Amino acid sequence: MIPRHQIVLLSTALLFGMAPVRGHSLHDDGMTSLAEYRRPSERTLLHVPDIDGYQTLKADLHMHTVFSDGLVWPTIRVQEAWQEGLDVIAITDHIEYQPHLEDIPFNPNRPYEIAGEMAAEKDILLIKGSEITRYTPPGHFNAIFVKDASEFVKVRERKNPELDKEAIDRAAAQDAFITWNHPGWKVGSIEGSYDWIPFVEEIHKEGKLHGIEVINDLDLHRKALDWALEHDLAVLGTSDIHNIIANRYDMEHGVHRSMTLLFVEERSLQGVREALEAGRSVAWSTRHLAGREKWVRALYEASVAVGGIYHHDEKGIAYAEIRNNSDLSFDLALADSGLKGWPETITLNPRSSQTLEFRSRSGTARYVVKNAYISGSEHLVVEISPEKN
Ligand code: ZN
Repeated sequence: MIPRHQIVLLSTALLFGMAPVRGHSLHDDGMTSLAEYRRPSERTLLHVPDIDGYQTLKADLHMHTVFSDGLVWPTIRVQEAWQEGLDVIAITDHIEYQPHLEDIPFNPNRPYEIAGEMAAEKDILLIKGSEITRYTPPGHFNAIFVKDASEFVKVRERKNPELDKEAIDRAAAQDAFITWNHPGWKVGSIEGSYDWIPFVEEIHKEGKLHGIEVINDLDLHRKALDWALEHDLAVLGTSDIHNIIANRYDMEHGVHRSMTLLFVEERSLQGVREALEAGRSVAWSTRHLAGREKWVRALYEASVAVGGIYHHDEKGIAYAEIRNNSDLSFDLALADSGLKGWPETITLNPRSSQTLEFRSRSGTARYVVKNAYISGSEHLVVEISPEKN
């Protein structure tokens, strides 16, 4: 019989391809491998359905590194994105703000160059970008799909409002996709900062504003969703991450970074740009969705399935299954307050199923999806009809 500790050594040896009995050899080199404790090189898969014939991509188009006021090297952003199951990222360091300048020389093209090889190896689509960082108002704008970020260097005086327009013009001259970032972030401290101001109206009229952040980090900017609908802008959700992702988001409890779901014709940079320009996007932050009704509804319908009634009990209660096949969450509240015999609320957690019990006399009920915004003040409304299935 082989002693137990030798079996462990033998299996470890086989696993790592070492010579067996290494631990007991006279030629022991004094080393014991603890490689079993290494984090597995695997990524989380976020299940979000494809909709309406489009492939759904997960994108984070606003992130920082040590090249502005972030705390990490550009390749860390690629690693994190890969581990979290993202498809598309843009590193968007501030043009006008570099607190690490004494340690890191200013070069706005470097983060993209440094991250490029790892992004290619991990099949992450990497978009070149910069954050135009003007004093608020008008605040910050991301320019993505830029060609040469060093062209923005001439506008680095961020408190000089005379250069605000030139900063946007320089991005537009490179055919950048330009978004207005976190429009509500100074709402309590700078009066008029969370308004559709003349500057924004001007660049929008000139065709130099293409998207708006509705979710930035841990804030849902509901007024920004109304502006997106009114002015035909792409809806974005972004992390605007400065620290490491795991430090910012409660990942141990199922939280993930805020991001944009993009509905693309093809998984390529061109496909991403086309989807953004066509407004096929929804902002997503763990349990919350915000976007155009058409896309939010399509996500709900592709995620949630209601089965037929499989049982009636003696009290007239019908039983059916309601299932959420995706990693999205839907918090339903009964829309018709007078409707008796249906649950007041239904919480559809990611990838779960539950029994729906209801009075079969009323075969259909309408529910408000409390965590799915289709405007700044409206939620998605859905119908549940087990009898029809
Ligand atoms: Zn930022």
